[in-house]
This record gives sequence, structure tokens and C-alpha cells, in this order.
Amino acid sequence: MSKYIFVTGGVLSGLGKGVSTSSIGLLLKSRGLQVTAIKIDPYLNCDAGTMNPYQHGEVFVLDDGGEVDMDLGNYERFLDVDLSKDHNITTGKIYKSVIEKERRGDYLGVTVQIIPHVTDEIKSSIKRIAEKNQANVVIVEIGGTVGDIESMPFLEAIRQLHQELGDENCIFVHTTLVPVVSAVGEPKTKPTQHSVKELRTIGIQPDVIVARSDEPLSDAIRRKISLFCDVPTEAVISNPNVRLIYEVPMIFERQGLTELILKQLHLQPRGKDFQAWNAFVESAVNPSSRLKIAIVGKYTQLQDSYISYTEALIHAGAALHSGIDVHWIEAEQFSEAQMQGVDGLIVPVGFGSRGHEGKIEAIRYARTREVPFLGICYGFQLATVEFGRNVLGLKGANSTEFGATPHPIIDLMPEQHDVMEKGATMRLGAYPVVIERGTMAHRLYGETLIHERHRHRWEVNPKYIKELETNGLKYSGKSTDGRRMEILELASHPYFVASQFHPEFKSRPTQPRPLFTGLVQACLARKKH
Ligand code: GLN
Repeated sequence: MSKYIFVTGGVLSGLGKGVSTSSIGLLLKSRGLQVTAIKIDPYLNCDAGTMNPYQHGEVFVLDDGGEVDMDLGNYERFLDVDLSKDHNITTGKIYKSVIEKERRGDYLGVTVQIIPHVTDEIKSSIKRIAEKNQANVVIVEIGGTVGDIESMPFLEAIRQLHQELGDENCIFVHTTLVPVVSAVGEPKTKPTQHSVKELRTIGIQPDVIVARSDEPLSDAIRRKISLFCDVPTEAVISNPNVRLIYEVPMIFERQGLTELILKQLHLQPRGKDFQAWNAFVESAVNPSSRLKIAIVGKYTQLQDSYISYTEALIHAGAALHSGIDVHWIEAEQFSEAQMQGVDGLIVPVGFGSRGHEGKIEAIRYARTREVPFLGICYGFQLATVEFGRNVLGLKGANSTEFGATPHPIIDLMPEQHDVMEKGATMRLGAYPVVIERGTMAHRLYGETLIHERHRHRWEVNPKYIKELETNGLKYSGKSTDGRRMEILELASHPYFVASQFHPEFKSRPTQPRPLFTGLVQACLARKKH
């Protein structure tokens, strides 16, 4: 039977609840336990796919094509597992399923209510994952802040689960904030006290409190929280500011959190292995060189919009002992002057026409000045457009995503023409890509068949491929039938590589993704000269 850890949030959002969840997962996994994680998002959308990144940060994509909350990206990176879309439960999914059952007649004769029908649906969705993953421990993170109307049914469901399963099978971890407000610099525990009170009114008493603060909590503050919130002092865990989120697991470990959880849940650890993780963290935190890599995007005001990119750069950088400073450039305001001192360029994911000309300008700069460049999805499509315009001389060449063009070099995929609904209808998830021997892509991957995650509706228009290739743009990766272009590269350039797929989604701390490692390598080589 699986054990459950429920992570709730108090005081305000953005306290790193997802990182705390991931860190606890990593700590238990490193003790030889089978761990999985679930994110609950109390919004009515069925999935994250229809929201823009300013809502909740990046839309993360899984192997099975699930478009999910960005926290699942952290779970995959910390736990080094591949999750499925069922690991992201939303209010939309739960209600959809309940309403479908009602229409089918599954509840015939009764009034369908939040308690028990919605809460039962939530509980069975959680238990299904536990069984399917044969997990020793399932960590369930409840999005939002305690007290939100939206999260009530979920909190009630986990309260019921605890009632059914008992103390030795469930732990409640509550994350809060301990701010310093006065000029005197005194840390305040009142928000934590209030938040725990709020949690208690719904019948949940936390077992562990993880408190975010700028500085580590003093013993006196830990004792105070312990007293007012009725948890043992050793269960008040300090979560101070860190340079990199990857330092958090060891901060928790040193405070005895792993032992505490193992004891309460009566779990027998099988060994302890932090070696690879610690080597990665050490290299990421104390790199021997630094690079400045520009990301030209249109959601640069919220860096969570591109979190998988920044993480993939940290992973690739750590493998090559280099720290990465990301230089954010707002696509609509792109100018060459902003490329001063930049070692490499990334043009990431994008939808719609806003900022596309600035991105094309940035790509032209990288191509003509031999700046290492990695284009991803939208960036891959725009690299093709740029080449068409400026090398082939196809005036006005563009993607049909932005409207009519005399040269539709990027066009809607044929199977997308009849698609009317927007939710979960893109070409999504892992697809195989065949790599041609002797190319840069082959050197980087070391394989001729790879699997990467996708999320797009447009593609390189097959009518232009021959002309593009005879002029030097090499498509080194293609779909298995050879019809769809997946990777492009320029032999005459130190590193000009782009992919239709999203390699950032499969980058892991100790296993960086080849296209990112290639970029960092090329930036380092260029800097040396
Ligand atoms: N908007 C483009 C498409 O749908 C690119 C998508 C992306 O960058 N993920 O094909």
C-alpha cells in the first residue's frame, strides 16, 4: 500500500511549494523508495494547454502529450521520472468526469454533490496513480493557498483520505512564509499561525511546517512556530533563500526532514545515495566559468514562462563546469545592440505573430555573426523563414500562422486543417526522430533514433525543402516517414541548430539534453578564441 504526503500552501503563492514537493520526493527516492508526485490545480481548465504562460508559468509537455502545470517539470527533473497527464489533476478534469458519469446514469436516483461525489472522484484519481505507479510514497501537492474557495473540495478529499488511512500512512506538510517587515529585522510568525488556523478549520493539522524566509530560521523562531502551531520543533523546517533550487533537498536533509518522514510513515529506507546529485549541485553552484546566453522571447516579464529552458541551461552548464547568465530580450524591442557581450542565443517556443520579426532579426544576427544559436519549435520555424528570406531571397517569406504570405515556408500541418477545438489538439508529446549519420545532430545525440516531445500545429512546408537544402540548410533530423522536418543545422556555422521538438522538456540535472550541451560547448569554444 502507498503512503501519502500532502503538501499544502499558506499565506501566499510563489513560496516554492513545487520545489519543496520535488525536494522531498528526491530525498525519499535517494533512500531507495519508489516515489511519484501529483499536482492538483484547482482551476476549471481541463489542462494547462489553453492558458498563456503569464497565467501560471510555462506549459510543460509530457511524453504522453499531456499539457500540464510547470511543477510537473520540477517533479520530473528532481525525481528523474517520466510522468503522465493523470499526474496533473484539475477541477476541470474532476467535474468533467463526474458530469459524464451523471449523464451515463452511474449515479441514477441520487442528487450528485460535492461531498461525496466530487471528493470521491478526487480520491480515486489520487489512488489510481498510486496503484499504477506501485509507489511506496505518493506526494500530492495542492495548488493555490489554503482558504481559496477553489481548493476546498481537494482539501476536504485529502482530509477524508487521512481519516481513512490513518496517521502512519499520511503526512501533511504545510508551506508558509516567515517575513521580516520591520526595520528591526524581526522575523514574523503570525502569518504562519493564521494559515495553520485556517487549515485546522477544515480539519487538517499539519505534521510538518516548511517555512520560507530570506535567512535560515533561528531556533527561537522554530520553537515559537512549534508552540503556536502544535508541531514538534524538529518538524519546523527552514527553507531559506538559495542560489539554485537544486540546493533545497540537502537543506531539508540536514534538518532531519527525511528521517522524520520515514519514521512517521514507518518506511524502511534502502540505502542512501546522493552522490550524483551532489556532484551536479557542486558544479552548478561553483562553476569555473560563466556564459551569457540571450533568450529572445515575448513573455520575458515572467521568467517562469521559460523555466525548462533556464533549467536545461543550468544542467548543460553544470556538465561543462559553466554557469549561465540568461540575458532576457523582449522580442518586440530587439536591437543588435542588445547582443553586445552575448555568447549564445536561444529563440524559444512561441505562438501568434507578436514579436516574430524581432526574433527573425536575432536569428539573422546569430547566423551572419557566427554566434552559437539554438532555435526551438517557433525558433526552428523562424530560422527556416530567415534562411528563406535572406539566403534564398524569397521576399516576404513567412509562416502562415501570421497571415497570408507569398512564400508560405512554414505551413499548417495537413491534419490540422479540420481541427476546430483548441484543447489538446496540437501535435503533442513524444514522437520518434530519425537522425542522419555524420551530422552535428548525430555527433550530439550519438544515436540515429531519438524520442523528443512536441507541441505544434505548423511545420516546414515540404514544397520548400529541396530549395532550402540545396542552399546549405541541412535537415539532419526527420520524422520516421521522412516527411516532417525535425532538426536543422548549418555546416558552415560553428553552431546553428534548431529543432521542431522541445528538448528542454527532457533535460535532467545529471543528464543534460544534447542540443543544450552542444550550445554551451560552442559558446565556451567561441569565448576561448
Ligand atoms: N506556433 C508554432 C506552432 O504551433 C510553434 C509552437 C511552439 O513553439 N511550441 O507550430
